[in-house]
Amino acid sequence: MILKIENLSKSFADNEVLKDVSLTMDKGEIIAVIGSSGSGKSTMLRCINGLVTPTSGKIEYEGRTGMVFQHFNLFPHMTCLQNITYAQVKVLKRSKEEARRKAEELLSLVGLLDQANKYPSQISGGQKQRIAIARALAMDPEIMLFDEATSALDPEITGEVLTVMKKLAEKHMSMLVVTHEMGFAREVSDRVLFMSEGKILEEGAPNEIFEDPKSSELKSFLKSMIRL
Ligand code: ADP
Ligand code: MG
Repeated sequence: MILKIENLSKSFADNEVLKDVSLTMDKGEIIAVIGSSGSGKSTMLRCINGLVTPTSGKIEYEGRTGMVFQHFNLFPHMTCLQNITYAQVKVLKRSKEEARRKAEELLSLVGLLDQANKYPSQISGGQKQRIAIARALAMDPEIMLFDEATSALDPEITGEVLTVMKKLAEKHMSMLVVTHEMGFAREVSDRVLFMSEGKILEEGAPNEIFEDPKSSELKSFLKSMIRL
């Protein structure tokens, strides 16, 4: 087991956004999290990586988490290479040379070694997101959290980011992926969680969730996704 969440709840003022969520994740597991906007998906990820403090409950994991956001959040004044080396040197105290070697390895994994010295403003959205993935991986996370990593991208660009995510899945990276890409959830994930109003309402293998939804909420959510 790589992650264990027990009875996680989170309220913002009197708005209870997460309600008693429990979840365990195995090493190497790919979990897709689906659900309507406002159902608490981002808040759950943010509680896991410490950006949000839970109101109650317990979250346990070893090592680090890496997170990829919808809006890349690259440092605009740094080159792609510097974006990837910065925290390695600052936080992990790696030597500049070591950080650079690691960054080049990851740039090559995401297919962007040739863009190393460009600034974020000089590359496309899909490329920015691939740099953001490389930057997160540079910290050697045990778990990668993706929060709608392709939602801000044009449809023809999402493929290149999904391809990188699939590559990570093939390398058995443990991944918790909030996504509206039902194809990705279906084909790549081991397990799908459906969140509704702050709860995990259904969870199961992709074929169970997509072929045999139980709740009226999941049924209508899946219908709404097909219409898109
Ligand atoms: P999702 O990612 O599924 O769209 P979120 O976790 O972003 O859902 O949001 C769930 C609910 O929590 C929403 O009603 C949202 O307005 C509220 N919320 C999220 N973050 C905050 C915050 N920092 N302060 C107040 N309310 C928040
Ligand atoms: Mg969200």
